Amino acid sequence: MDFALDAPHEQLRTLARRVAAEALAPRAAAYDREQRFPLEQMAALAERGFLTMLVPKVAGGSGHGSVAYALAMMEMAEACAATSVTMAVTNMVGDAIRAWGSDYLQNKYIPSLHDGRFTAGAFALSEPGAGSDASSLKATAVRKGDRYVLNGNKCWITSGDRAGVILVMAKTDPAAGSKGISAFLVEPEMAGFSVGRHEEKMGIRASSTVTINLEDVEVPVENRVGDEGVGFKIAMRALDGGRIGIGAQAVGIGRAALKAAVEYVGTTPGRADRASVRARLAEMSAELEAARLLVMRAADMKDRGIPFTKQASMAKMFATEAANRATHRALEIVGPDAVDARQAVERFFRDVRVTMIYEGTSEVQRVVIARQVLAEVQ
Ligand SMILES: Cc1cc2nc3c(=O)[nH]c(=O)nc-3n(C[C@H](O)[C@H](O)[C@H](O)COP(=O)(O)OP(=O)(O)OC[C@H]3O[C@@H](n4cnc5c(N)ncnc54)[C@H](O)[C@@H]3O)c2cc1C
Repeated sequence: MDFALDAPHEQLRTLARRVAAEALAPRAAAYDREQRFPLEQMAALAERGFLTMLVPKVAGGSGHGSVAYALAMMEMAEACAATSVTMAVTNMVGDAIRAWGSDYLQNKYIPSLHDGRFTAGAFALSEPGAGSDASSLKATAVRKGDRYVLNGNKCWITSGDRAGVILVMAKTDPAAGSKGISAFLVEPEMAGFSVGRHEEKMGIRASSTVTINLEDVEVPVENRVGDEGVGFKIAMRALDGGRIGIGAQAVGIGRAALKAAVEYVGTTPGRADRASVRARLAEMSAELEAARLLVMRAADMKDRGIPFTKQASMAKMFATEAANRATHRALEIVGPDAVDARQAVERFFRDVRVTMIYEGTSEVQRVVIARQVLAEVQ
């Protein structure tokens, strides 16, 4: 067993750290304040191949794989959580197109996700009343000759107003439950596609979260991803991989909070001598290290082609909760100064909360893990 990174992963992490420091960190606080979408940051990520890391080079991606992706997500999230979630969803969409899309779809969409012609990719599963229980979604796709006509409303869609392509889940057979869901690649230029409300969020404020409306959107049959009825499976597989990314995002934000706390303690006379401060720092660093190892293990299993659903959920549940505790402890260590909006700790505290919600809440991760654990003993 070797816990050290090999040379290519080490180099990739060094590159990610440099890009994060140069292109993301200097703008993170201002973009958060202004709720300004990180356009230039996404361009910088595209330029270095960080938007299609999970797609092999032969399929038009940068082919780094899941371990490298997790490492990069930690670096980006430490610098700017909002940019990192935009990066995460784009990578997830590219991964799903590569795994399930026809050659035609891969050739049509992956190059633009890769080189930044598309600012981002988006994933549209959630609806009002269908979040955790995504199989109860109501959007429909009715086949009419060589097209499907899509109708419905999607909510909380990351980059829904910025994406060049949106992976949309809709029911082709509403009577068949989760087995009646199919997946489609929708372009924002398609007639009947529109963006509704922009959410005003407590954290990751520079990322864009919108509702999207589909009103008789005609999608060519060749834009269906996979067969009819496999859309829910596609979404769940995509979320398995996505959870590695969000676990990594949480580790990155937690690490930023830990560093800020250490810096504060190091520059504030008398703080380093307090036992309660030392105890908090110890807990933060131990828990974040455990979280990092869980994330890396799930990513390594994905790269090796080993089923990783349980490990991804464990990584996401533990990492997001550990990172939430870490930002909370950082606030306690820094004290009253920490709630000042000019302090980065305040932003980390706001940014980290949503990691326990999107791509499956912490409660949903427990449901997934328990299901797997029970199946193992039967
Ligand atoms: C900033 C942001 C960005 C997002 N981006 C996207 C995106 O790009 N694409 C997309 O499709 N969705 C996106 N989402 C939606 C997100 O995935 C959902 O919010 C999440 O799945 C929870 O669904 P819900 O909000 O409907 O809450 P509900 O499902 O209504 O859950 C409410 C509460 O009940 C709990 N609960 C629900 N079911 C169970 C259960 N079986 N057992 C125990 N507890 C349960 C939940 O854990 C939660 O605490 C985003 C959300 C946010 C906040």
